[in-house]
Amino acid sequence: MLAQAALPLGLRCVFLEDAPFAPARLLGKVYSTEQFEDFARAADVYTLEFENTPVCSARLLAQTSALYPPPDALAVAQDRLKEKALFNQLDIPTVPYQQVSNQADLRTACEALGVPLVLKTSHGGYDGKGQFVVQTLADIDAAWAELGDAVNDAPLIAEGFIHFEREVSIIAARDQHGNVAYYPLVENHHHQGMLAKTTAPAPDSDALTTDAQAAIKKLLEHLDYVGVLALELFVTQDGLLANEIAPRVHNSGHWSIEGAITSQFENHIRAVAGLPLGDTRIVQPSVMLNIIGEYPDLAAATAVAGAHVHLYDKEERDERKIGHITVMPTDRSELAARVAEVVACLPNTMGL
Ligand code: AMP
Repeated sequence: MLAQAALPLGLRCVFLEDAPFAPARLLGKVYSTEQFEDFARAADVYTLEFENTPVCSARLLAQTSALYPPPDALAVAQDRLKEKALFNQLDIPTVPYQQVSNQADLRTACEALGVPLVLKTSHGGYDGKGQFVVQTLADIDAAWAELGDAVNDAPLIAEGFIHFEREVSIIAARDQHGNVAYYPLVENHHHQGMLAKTTAPAPDSDALTTDAQAAIKKLLEHLDYVGVLALELFVTQDGLLANEIAPRVHNSGHWSIEGAITSQFENHIRAVAGLPLGDTRIVQPSVMLNIIGEYPDLAAATAVAGAHVHLYDKEERDERKIGHITVMPTDRSELAARVAEVVACLPNTMGL
């Protein structure tokens, strides 16, 4: 989607990816990691769209080429403990947490934070993977049996379980001169840890937007960030709590391809290429639904008025994001009905 946004700006992309049938092959030359040196000479500027890109490779590339966002942002996002520490350092309210290096630490965390709590690996988790909800002290052994081995790589993190009202995220872009553009706050529905649906803009969010913008601005400036950054937040009775950042274009911003004047993908490309940012305002209220595991009937999905279908040319696999559909009918009053029609087409309705 980044390369698709680059094309009309006259910018051509090359990619680093080892999977033989990577969707990127449709849009430009794909280098394997064995060809890293050639890849590092192939472009004028580099970026990342995969959060688990090894930080050492990013730092290596940054020694010889312009790379945005900075590898330090990647290092923070890859480590939940570093990420939480940065939220605290910048006075961005976040969930209570403790580092867990052994089973005794987990018991201490349960006593200090209370149960339920969420035990997470601090590295490599995504879409709810690498997480265990400890409901009672009796779950400690089971939680350790599932995640304990991960301490050999890095300590785990125990987080207080947040009984949030809803989940929201904010996406912002920062250019090479420090100008920042914010997308509207959006509301996200997850199913079993995976994003199922994003509503843009989030209903009743004016007051929350001010706080979310202030939080992401602090992060962008602290990290001297260039490109698109996403911040996921829990809405609680006491206001917003930061959950995590993503140093890249984000699934909760996919609606912006049709739903915003300039998409998150185009703005990321603009920032990285040293161009001015485009208008982030919303064109029309939109709902984005993820296609998980199995493709819907294309004729049925495209028959829904105001539905924009994006299939990623990925192999179908359980719990894999393989496409999305953004719904934005011309008549706003039809939005809920059209969303229901799209959900009815999805083989995996993700609890919607
Ligand atoms: P994460 O990988 O941290 O984004 O977690 C995936 C999803 O799990 C989140 O979007 C929430 O729905 C849920 N979750 C994560 N952390 C917590 C928490 N501390 N309390 C309650 N729910 C959580």
